[in-house]
Amino acid sequence: MRFTPEHELLRQSIKRLVETEIAPHVDAWEEEGIFPAHELFPKLGRAGILGITKPVEYGGQGLDYSYSLVYAEEIGRIKCSGLSTAIGVQTDMATPALARYGSESLKREFLVPAIAGECVTSIAVSEVGAGSDVASIKTTARRDGDDYIINGSKMWITNGTQSDWLCLLCNTGSDNAPHRNKSLIVVPTNTPGVSIGKRLNKLGARSSDTAPIYLDEVRVPVRHRIGEEGMGFIYQMQQFQEERLFAGSKYLSQIEDAITVTAEYTASRVAFGKPLLDQQMIHCKLAELQIECNAARALLREAAEHYIAGDADATLLTSMAKFKVGQLGQTVPSACLQFWGGQGFMWDSPITRIFRDTRLCSIGGGANEVMLQIIAKDLGYHPATRSSARSG
Ligand SMILES: Cc1cc2nc3c(=O)[nH]c(=O)nc-3n(C[C@H](O)[C@H](O)[C@H](O)COP(=O)(O)OP(=O)(O)OC[C@H]3O[C@@H](n4cnc5c(N)ncnc54)[C@H](O)[C@@H]3O)c2cc1C
Repeated sequence: MRFTPEHELLRQSIKRLVETEIAPHVDAWEEEGIFPAHELFPKLGRAGILGITKPVEYGGQGLDYSYSLVYAEEIGRIKCSGLSTAIGVQTDMATPALARYGSESLKREFLVPAIAGECVTSIAVSEVGAGSDVASIKTTARRDGDDYIINGSKMWITNGTQSDWLCLLCNTGSDNAPHRNKSLIVVPTNTPGVSIGKRLNKLGARSSDTAPIYLDEVRVPVRHRIGEEGMGFIYQMQQFQEERLFAGSKYLSQIEDAITVTAEYTASRVAFGKPLLDQQMIHCKLAELQIECNAARALLREAAEHYIAGDADATLLTSMAKFKVGQLGQTVPSACLQFWGGQGFMWDSPITRIFRDTRLCSIGGGANEVMLQIIAKDLGYHPATRSSARSG
């Protein structure tokens, strides 16, 4: 992917925004276990970064996904993943299906304020009993005249305690067809029957609030449904593509930062009469890790190119890229941490936060094993596709 001067301008403006509005507060927000989303998001909205790919008529910039990729790469340079994840939920997880399939009135009521940063959103798919296996979610919405009545619960919801509305996946039909019985519904969190559980105490992404959400006889109008009834699973699988491109790009920036901070630290730490970085074993290892990151970045950008073009292999490439970054999230920060010695075991070391934060990349938004299943199916190696691939 070749970036233009316009991409560079966007990159610089996000960099400045991060430096002025976010970076000075990161440590305090990490400590508090939450950040003030209703204060920060309007600033991001005014800067235009909450609607980069969204249509101009709803306040977006109407740009293609290459600009979102630049945005994800830069937002990933925030020195904690809690903030980048929370912002990415608003741009690439809770709103893509609404922008693509929502009715005009739904977009006016919920998409426009999300792009302006006047509200905070969540994507509510996972449940206590269903994370990887999305098709087996149990939350239901039954019709009652012009309303749906929703019952169930959602787990691990990012922005959960601050959210104004949820993009909620639930069952609107019978269990017999788990891929055709679901719908995505916009649920305002101030609707009677919605209650938010206690903020969860997490290993990483400390500055982002994550919570369970309970829905007890929650009545929302049928017009809050995004697109067609029964198409929610399909819409969510499409929505996951932007989530995975975003997550891969932004986590990779944080993973690369592990190498940068380790080079800095080992350059300043003297042992055996010279900086640790002068040890061939260390500088060559960091070089090798950077090669891995560059290869993953190239794969991500290729996946984004195919996604923009609407190519049939976009899901395959996106899943591969998400998998690769997930793998690097497990290996690169861990390898780097080693070179910090005892300092690498201290909670407040920069490498420790990266080590904790990036561990989620191979779990959230589709675990690496799930990515492998998708990839194996697409390549025709999975039992479900092997016979058709053979005959094809
Ligand atoms: C901090 C945080 C924020 C999150 N934010 C959100 C959010 O905003 N909205 C939301 O809906 N969800 C959110 N999630 C949930 C997240 O997407 C799920 O945790 C993830 O999809 C994995 O689901 P699970 O935890 O139920 O793991 P499980 O499905 O129980 O899987 C456990 C492990 O089993 C393995 N596994 C799973 N399936 C297979 C398979 N087919 N073959 C082989 N191995 C397999 C994988 O290693 C996986 O990690 C968040 C989670 C966390 C921790």
